[in-house]
Amino acid sequence: MEARKVWTKTWKLPIKAKLKHIIWKLYKGWISANSVLIRRGLNVEETCRRCGEGGESVHHKLFACDFAGLVWEMSPVKWDGLQHLTNQFSDWWDALMKIEKGEEVQARVELSVYILWQIWKARNVWLYEGKKLEPMEVVQRAMKEWGEFKQVQDHKKNTIGVERRSEGQQVEKHLIKDSVGSIVLQK
Ligand SMILES: [Zn+2]
Repeated sequence: MEARKVWTKTWKLPIKAKLKHIIWKLYKGWISANSVLIRRGLNVEETCRRCGEGGESVHHKLFACDFAGLVWEMSPVKWDGLQHLTNQFSDWWDALMKIEKGEEVQARVELSVYILWQIWKARNVWLYEGKKLEPMEVVQRAMKEWGEFKQVQDHKKNTIGVERRSEGQQVEKHLIKDSVGSIVLQK
């Protein structure tokens, strides 16, 4: 699929803007799993510190690692038949964006993004805080973050409706600011 089309579709997803940017960076290969370590001047290890196997690739961190595998397995999201595409993130994401959109598919795509993000965050929590999150915790965090964002969106929609009638009052005060983990992925 044409990159521009994919981007348009990605941008239209009702997910946090920050996550759209992350997806795009992954899509373009601008994020490598060890970029943070390199920037910090640390030696990059050959093996994954979470499972002791595999390399430092994005593919390993997000899909192939035992830990990531368990998260995906426990999540309510299934992308049967697309596993072989995860080797190249852009191939996998292309395939997702190509699937005919229904409400259910869109929800799965949205949740998938939050899962990716939480897998990534869990890895950083493990690396920098030494705290090992359970796969189920990661699934729960993803579902919670997704649900909360949805709720804010709905609330915003409703609030805007009410405000248009009553005029005045700022919508912004209802927005939840996400302050966790955003630093880690900054370029
Ligand atoms: Zn691993």
